[in-house]
Amino acid sequence: MADLAEIISGINERIHEEADWGVPAQYIPELAGIPADQFAISVCTANGRTYSAGSSHVPFSIQSISKVFALVTTLGRIGDQLWTRVGREPTGTAFDAISILETDAGRPRNPFINAGAIVTTDALLSGREPRQAIAEILGLIRAMAESDEVYINAKVARSEKETGARNRALAHYLLSHDNLDNDPEKLLGTYFHQCAIEMTTDQLAMSGRCLADLPNAPNVISRTHARRVNALMMSCGHYDASGEFSYQVGLPGKSGVGGGILIVAPRKASIAIWSPGLDGYGNSKAGTRAAAMLSHQTGWSVF
Ligand code: GLU
Repeated sequence: MADLAEIISGINERIHEEADWGVPAQYIPELAGIPADQFAISVCTANGRTYSAGSSHVPFSIQSISKVFALVTTLGRIGDQLWTRVGREPTGTAFDAISILETDAGRPRNPFINAGAIVTTDALLSGREPRQAIAEILGLIRAMAESDEVYINAKVARSEKETGARNRALAHYLLSHDNLDNDPEKLLGTYFHQCAIEMTTDQLAMSGRCLADLPNAPNVISRTHARRVNALMMSCGHYDASGEFSYQVGLPGKSGVGGGILIVAPRKASIAIWSPGLDGYGNSKAGTRAAAMLSHQTGWSVF
C-alpha cells in the first residue's frame, strides 16, 4: 500500500478534478444553500495518527450519522429491549419512506431509517427531559471524539422543525401503532436537535475509533455493542443504497444528508468523509466515490 497521506491527498485532488458534486439536501432550508464543491477526509489509524485532507476543520451537520450515537446511547441504557420495537433488517426503501411502516405494522425495520431512529430516540427520552437525552448523546460523542468542541447548530434544528412534516407523519403513524411513549412534538424536537449536531471530519474520525476497535480508542462502548452497531452500519447504513455501498466499499458506514459518512475499517482505521452534495439516495455523491477509492487503494475492504 502506498503512503496513506499520499493516498488521501490524491483522493482530495481527484474529487476536485472530477467536480461531480451532487446537490445539498433541499428539504432542510438551512442546508439547501451550502456550496456543494467542498470535500474533507480524515483517517485515524491503529498507530494513533490522524491523516486529513481538504476541509477537515470545517464543522458540518452530521444529520443521520447521529443515529449511530443515539443507538449506542440507547443500547447502553436499555440493551436488547430496544429490539422489541425496532428491527435489524435493511429496507430497500428511502430513508424517510412511509409505505414500509404500514407494511411492517408500525415496527420500523432498522434504527437507521428515520422511523427507526425516531423510536430509538423515543426509548432514550422516556424518563428524562429532551435536554437530558441530548446531553447524553452529546456527552457520548465528546467522549468518543475526545473533544469538548462538539455543538448543536440551533438554526439547522429550527429549520428542520419548521419543515419536518414527513417526520411528523412518521411519528404519528408510530403513535397509532402504540410504538411511541412520548409526545410526538417533544420527541421530534429532541430528534431534530440530535440531527443538528455539527462535527468536523477530524472529530468524526476520532469518534469512530471505538467502533473500529483501535488500540488507542477511549473505552466507552462495549465490544458487543460496537460489533452490533457495525453490523447494522454494513447492512443498513446507506438506506436503499446499502448494498451498493457494501459492494463498492466493503466496510460498515453511516451516511447523513449533511453529506457526511462515518466508515469503520475494523482494527485498521476510522474514517470520516464530508462533501455536502447528495446523490438520489440522500448519500454524499463525492463522499461515496472517495470511500470507494480509499477502500480500493488501501485494501481495507472486509471481504
Ligand atoms: N434529519 C434528517 C431527517 O430526519 C436525517 C436524514 C438523513 O440524514 O439521512 O430527515
